[in-house]
Amino acid sequence: MTWIDLSLFFVLFVLFIYIFISVSITNLHKVYLTFHFTMMLWPFCQFALKTTADPDVQLFYVKLAFIDSILLTIGWLLFTIFLTGKSHLLRKKKTLILYIVAAFILIGVIVNPKQSFVLPMHGGYVERSYGPLFWLFILFLITTIIISLYIIYSALISNATQRIKKQVTHVLKGVLVLTVFVLLDVFLNVVLFKSQPVIPGMTSLGILISAIFFVIAIHRDKIFDLVTIAHQDIIDTLTLGILVLDDNETVVEINRSLSPKINLQIGDRFDLSTLTPMEETANAFRLFQHTYLIQPMERTEVEVFYTTLSAYINITAAPIVVGEIMVGRILTFQDRSELHRLMAETNQQNEVLQERNLALIEIQNELSQTNLKLKQMAITDSLTGCYNRHYLTQHLEHEIIENMILKQPFAIILLDIDFFKTVNDNYGHLVGDVVICRTVEVIKQSLRETDILARYGGEEFIVYLPNTSHTQANRWAEHIKFMIEANKVHVDEVAHSVSVTVSMGLLSINNFAEQYTESPTNQLNDLFESVDKALYQAKNAGRNQIVEIIR
Ligand code: GH3
Ligand code: MG
Ligand code: MG
Repeated sequence: MTWIDLSLFFVLFVLFIYIFISVSITNLHKVYLTFHFTMMLWPFCQFALKTTADPDVQLFYVKLAFIDSILLTIGWLLFTIFLTGKSHLLRKKKTLILYIVAAFILIGVIVNPKQSFVLPMHGGYVERSYGPLFWLFILFLITTIIISLYIIYSALISNATQRIKKQVTHVLKGVLVLTVFVLLDVFLNVVLFKSQPVIPGMTSLGILISAIFFVIAIHRDKIFDLVTIAHQDIIDTLTLGILVLDDNETVVEINRSLSPKINLQIGDRFDLSTLTPMEETANAFRLFQHTYLIQPMERTEVEVFYTTLSAYINITAAPIVVGEIMVGRILTFQDRSELHRLMAETNQQNEVLQERNLALIEIQNELSQTNLKLKQMAITDSLTGCYNRHYLTQHLEHEIIENMILKQPFAIILLDIDFFKTVNDNYGHLVGDVVICRTVEVIKQSLRETDILARYGGEEFIVYLPNTSHTQANRWAEHIKFMIEANKVHVDEVAHSVSVTVSMGLLSINNFAEQYTESPTNQLNDLFESVDKALYQAKNAGRNQIVEIIR
């Protein structure tokens, strides 16, 4: 019936294992709790085995104690591996050998074949002697201890974080104490068993002391404090440099990315002036330093360039305030070089773009000037510089309609130089050209700004007089005729001056009663025809005169 309780114990134990595996705690927690549980089991078995006279039950407890110690050994190794952050080692095939050996010994202990692990003395197992399997177990234990110590040693000399190193130191102490006590137990109670009385509880005491070391480590260094661990890991993996100072400017925290760069460690005095840059940002830094010293409660920041690092560093300093009292400061250091490089690159590209833009604008200007010239050329007569016939017809088509609608009187003069063939014949074509040009100049001088002068044919010109009554038009025509006649053209090759007269046809439009249904082109042609007739009449009537047609 006693087995019922034991069965219940096992059921509860299975439940414990289930909860233990399924809840979300870290692997490190799980390993430690297993480790601790196995540590508890050893002294319990030592006690339990002495509470019964039944050798079978005694053997059960002895076996349980040793099964437990095998688990303890493995747990111990796992704990060391997890604690030093070397869990990748567990994936190596070599670790399989350890498990196989452990399993082999475990089976050996359970079966105890031919009492090759443990032998009873005085008809029970309170006092007992050990067989070769026991020594294999001791060998396994020592090997595991050596491996553990090696892992601890390599963690201590590696560049692991301060946190890991501190934890490992505590574990090292625990491991050493346990080793000493276990070995003493084996030596005194097993090896020297015959020559001296058994000292009880040696291994249990070792287990207790090492457990105390672990508990201290857990509490003081918050090994299992996930948040602290996470914070530390985040701070250490940040590229941002973080420096925490106490109120005496002593470093209390410095993260891994910053520490080698400014050569400071926890406990060192921090001196801001050692960070003064030599370069053009020195002034900005002095201002930062001033605020840092004089107004410590202000959050201040500066961006400085260090030639030695060839980097732009953004430094911020902020007070750590507890109940309105400044208890320290936090400084951050951020490398902004990449940002500066990008900004410089963008600026350079902008400059190039601006230059290209300017060049484009220049080309555009040149183009529009050329265009203007072309437009001008398209409407200008090349010899005289006045408008050409093409421009005149286009312009007048539009003007005439407008005049008709607005009932504005206007006039058109068609003038032709008299006997111009004779000029050409007497003085040559070039002189003829000069005479044409000078005549145009004279006409231009006589015109108003709104009047239009255009070359109609060889030495025929049209003058359009907008907004002009026939009396005004007549006066203008007379004036122009007089001015041309009076104009004496001097040409280098000709000894005397050359004078010409002109005949004019003058068409004045004053009457808008008539309905014009024709197209502008036809209307204009009609007007030209009329004025041409007038000119013809003037020529026929003896030249150097004006014939006016009023409509
Ligand atoms: P009319 O009094 O009847 O007008 O006699 P005209 O000799 O002037 O005869 P017409 O107007 O028919 O002849 C014009 C001449 O003007 C013919 C042509 O050789 C000359 N001429 C036309 N254009 C130019 C030019 O650009 N330069 C020169 N030098 N002569 C031109
Ligand atoms: Mg002529
Ligand atoms: Mg002519």
